[in-house]
Amino acid sequence: MNDMTATGSEIPVAARRAAHFAHLYALLPQMLNAIGWSRDEIDAHRTTALRAMLAHAKTHSPWYAARLAHIDAETATLADLQRIPVMTKHELMEHWDEIVTVPGASRAEAEQALQAMTDQFYIWSDHVLLCSGGTGGRPGLFVYDFDSLARLWAGMARGFFASLMTLAAEGVEVPGGVRMATVGGETSSHGSFVLSRIFTNPNNPTTNLSGWRALPDNYAKLNQAQPHFLFTYPSVIAELCQAQADGRLNISPRILYLGGEQLPQAFYDLAQATWPSADILTCWGTSEGGGTFACRQGGYHICEDLVIIEPVDGAGEPIKPGQLSEGIYFTNLYNKALPIIRYAIDDIFELADEPCPCGSQHTKVRQVHGRWFDRFQYGDISMHPVTLELAVLEQHDILEFQIQQTERGAHCLYRAEKPIDEARLVAKMDAALREAGLPSPVASAEKVVSFTRSAAGKLNPFRPLS
Ligand SMILES: [Zn+2]
Repeated sequence: MNDMTATGSEIPVAARRAAHFAHLYALLPQMLNAIGWSRDEIDAHRTTALRAMLAHAKTHSPWYAARLAHIDAETATLADLQRIPVMTKHELMEHWDEIVTVPGASRAEAEQALQAMTDQFYIWSDHVLLCSGGTGGRPGLFVYDFDSLARLWAGMARGFFASLMTLAAEGVEVPGGVRMATVGGETSSHGSFVLSRIFTNPNNPTTNLSGWRALPDNYAKLNQAQPHFLFTYPSVIAELCQAQADGRLNISPRILYLGGEQLPQAFYDLAQATWPSADILTCWGTSEGGGTFACRQGGYHICEDLVIIEPVDGAGEPIKPGQLSEGIYFTNLYNKALPIIRYAIDDIFELADEPCPCGSQHTKVRQVHGRWFDRFQYGDISMHPVTLELAVLEQHDILEFQIQQTERGAHCLYRAEKPIDEARLVAKMDAALREAGLPSPVASAEKVVSFTRSAAGKLNPFRPLS
């Protein structure tokens, strides 16, 4: 049930978002303080948080009760994590109803609400849903309680808060006077849209533009907005830099936050050359729990007060700093609505092997070699393939997929063991192609038995023509 039908408290969604934004700012001081914790403080906090999460999961989730039967939550240590079996996205999706701890919540109800969504909404009083293609090729569905969603964003946003405070030193009121803009997600259950929709100052709204489709009409809006802070995807930054170089775009952001995808060094350098006085920040985050905060010295730090990330090799053994992992095991320490403990993600982590000059003891990440999306180009029309992925994300019984660009549209290969609504899938892809400007697109879908993966075991969710 969403806000319009919730019994008891019928809080208008705008008021709930405003309260959520206020809660985010209330959390920031403790989040900023935690950046400076000593290693002992971090580990003591993690141990306490892990015990609380284990106890909660064992008590409220039948799935975890069986899985964690051999673990004593009261005395567990960080070393005991290795005694907990690894969880896959497939298990999360198949056992969602036994894992979720929100009373009355079900995957079926969440899916129904998502299919009907026209804007960000709250469900089960003040909970929020996020969907992602993300890791493992299978669409994922996640639910956050009110506090945890703010914690997810505050944990990541603290990385650029230090940059925002340099504006305060120049007399710009933070957050009231900071002009913010995103060239990011469109209305969807994607984290990039949901978070920017909720965590926007109601008295000074963020200018939200699409990074998913052709950009030209964005330039005038950005020129008018003159943002201090601009978020966009790394795959969009080259176009923005080109527009700035040839005069179509004329902005001077102080903070450029490039997220949602891996940031190649060449694009970092290009952005810095285009806007020499801007802080260029990036970090890695996941719908499973956020995960890192940007460092002004480059790279980013793991939010070790909020999550545990274990970089592992192909055999599941821990790797050393400086080496490349084959994946990570991810534990969310704060979102009790949907416990995620030792969950496999196939992003490749490269940890720094020396302390960060910023002084933070939170583990430094040099880079995550993760998702990178080439746009689908049809003549003059350019579209971000996540636009098409939305059609897949609402089909939670799809186990793996790949969307391939075709001459006049796109073809979605998918693997599923249960029936899916293929007609709806194709209709939504068709609508996305039309919205991008293709006059008579051809969208199609095909069920396959298996996929050929790359040598690293990755299945690229999108395959452009070129
Ligand atoms: Zn640092």
